[in-house]
Order: sequence, then structure tokens, then C-alpha cells
Amino acid sequence: MSLRVLLAVLLLSILLAAFAVILPSFLFLHDQLSVLFPPNLVAESETALHTLLAAQIIGTITMLTLLLAGLFWILLSLVARPLKGIVIAMDAFAERGEKLSLPALPPAPSELRKLVSVFSRFVDRVDEAHKKDVEVSRVKSDFISTAAHQLRTPLTGIRWALEALEMSDLSEEHKALVKSATDKSHELVAIVGTLLDISSIESGKYKYAFAPVDLESVAEEVVNDFMPLAQKSKVSLYVEKSGGTVPKVKADRQRIKWILNNLIENAVRYTPADGSVRIMAEQKGSQVYLRVRDTGIGIGVEDKDNIFERFYRAQNAIAVQNGGNGLGLYIARTIATDHGGDLTFTSNTEGHGTTFTLSLPVV
Ligand code: ADP
Repeated sequence: MSLRVLLAVLLLSILLAAFAVILPSFLFLHDQLSVLFPPNLVAESETALHTLLAAQIIGTITMLTLLLAGLFWILLSLVARPLKGIVIAMDAFAERGEKLSLPALPPAPSELRKLVSVFSRFVDRVDEAHKKDVEVSRVKSDFISTAAHQLRTPLTGIRWALEALEMSDLSEEHKALVKSATDKSHELVAIVGTLLDISSIESGKYKYAFAPVDLESVAEEVVNDFMPLAQKSKVSLYVEKSGGTVPKVKADRQRIKWILNNLIENAVRYTPADGSVRIMAEQKGSQVYLRVRDTGIGIGVEDKDNIFERFYRAQNAIAVQNGGNGLGLYIARTIATDHGGDLTFTSNTEGHGTTFTLSLPVV
């Protein structure tokens, strides 16, 4: 029931109560007058009686209203104030994870005091679970980081040895074998590098060097880097200029370039020959949106929810590309959100393909 309806009901009740109190005394007076005086005198005194009745009603209504307002105020302070405290504490916990201590509220109704104690226990439980999650995540990150560090040195040694062997005088057959081993060692070094990136970004240890960045120019650099791959795959790759000026964003240039490398490489790799990859940037409000739109294999409905999960690769992607570890998008989105932006994707409505959208805040 809304407060307005409650007030209307209250006022109506006061009015009815006033009538209920006054009407019997009025009828009693009326009867007494009819008995005591002749009818003509009764008629004359009727007007005075009405005025008296009105005054009585107004007086009673005022008194009852004051009484009810007082009661209402007491009720409000007993219920509303503690409730307000609970709402503030809930809000602080939901928004910032801050635990505000709630007062004991001795005069409040027992249900409210119960609510306060249940809420306090609930906050403690959530806090405990969160601490456990953070600890598990830290142990996991530490493990990945230690393992990756341990793997990096011997792997780099193997890669150098293989590269040296490749230069030596070998039969064609052995050269092919060494080349394949060198390629695989490059892939392994890249995976280890990615794992190190993940652990440093996840643990929050990665320090971003924020500065004003021209997103369109980073996109152009990345497009130039991938042009040979695009030409080899017969995919047309280009940045579509917006016409207007796109403002700079607040970002770590190296990390944003890493995201664009990943998005553009994926777009080219997952687009069959004669397709296209188009990159566009535009400003909307306080964000710049950079879209990478391809006409490739697309992302199926069954994969939509998992595409940003670690190590997830869709079946249609595995079928066309054996290489790939399913980590790129996960890291890319983490970096984007660390920047106060986001990374999302949609399936193209007309024709095949996918559009990935990176949003970053304007400087
Ligand atoms: P990787 O490409 O190394 O497998 P990513 O994390 O970059 O890892 O991508 C995860 C998965 O998302 C890919 O395996 C693929 O299934 C899907 N994906 C990413 N980009 C595209 C794209 N442009 N078109 C279709 N599928 C894509």
C-alpha cells in the first residue's frame, strides 16, 4: 500500500471516528430539546445546534489528527530510522563491499532487530566466501606465474639451440624436422608469455601506463602489421575513416595494441578467402567505440556465452584453425575492463561474420 493511500485511509478513519463520537451526543441533545421546548423554539435553536456540532467536529478532528500524527511519528522513528540504517549498510556493502556496523537498535521492533542480526551474519558469510575466493584465485595465479617462469628459461634455451641447429649443415629431411620443432618452440614461448601476462593482469600486479591514445592510429599500425597475412589469405583488411575526428582515449598504448592485435588477427584468421575485415572508430558520449567487423565463420549461439572464458575455442574455429589457445579474448576483455571500458561482440545481422566492439573512455 502506498503512503498516499495509507494517509487517505487514516484521514477517512479520523473523520468517521469524529462523527461516531459526536453524532450520538448531537442526537441526544436534539431529543432533549424536543422534549423540553415547543417545536417553534426547537427550530430556532436548531441553527445554533448545527454550529455547535460543526465546532465540535472540527475540534475533535484536530485533536484526533494531532494524536494520530504523534503516534505516526513515534512509529516512524521506531521503524523507519533503523530501516534507513539497514538500507545504508546494505548499499555500502553492495556498492563497495564496505562493512558498516549497525547499531543495536534496542527500541526497534523485534523483527527489525532480527533483520539487523541476520543481515550482519549474511555480510560475514559473504565476506568469508569472498576472502576464500580471493585466496584460491591468488594461489592459482601464483602457481601459473611460477610454472610459467620456470618454463620460460629452458624453453628459450631450446629455441636458441634449435635455431642454431637450423643454420647448420643438415639433410633436407632433418632441416624440415628442426624447422617444425623451432616453430613449435616459438608457439610454446608465446603461450608461456601469455600465461605470464594473465597472472600479472589477474593478480592486479600489472601497472598500466595510462596516457592519451589515438585509437584509430593504433588500429592503422596493427592493420599494416597484419597486411601480409591478410593478403596471403585473400582477405581485404582496412580501417574505414569516420570522416569526423575521433577523440583520444585514456589508455595504455602497448596493452591496447595487444588487444587490437588479437582482434584483428582473429578476424583475419577466421575469415575465408574473398572476405573482408573492416575497422571503424566512433565516439558516443564519453566513450570511443572501435569495431572490428569481419565476414568470417561467425560465432554460434551455443558458443556465445563462453567465448570470453579461458581456453574456450568454438568447434567451427578449431575446424579452420588448429593453432590458438583460447586465451586472447579473455585477456583482451580483462585489459578493456581494467581501462574502464569493455569488449563485446555481436553476430552481423546481414550476411556472415562477427563484429567485436572495444569501448574505452575518452580522455
Ligand atoms: P584463439 O583465437 O587463440 O582460439 P581467442 O581467445 O582469441 O583464442 O578466441 C577464442 C575463441 O573465440 C576462438 O577460438 C573462436 O572460437 C572465437 N573467435 C574469436 N574471434 C572470432 C572471430 N572473429 N570470428 C569467429 N570466431 C571468433
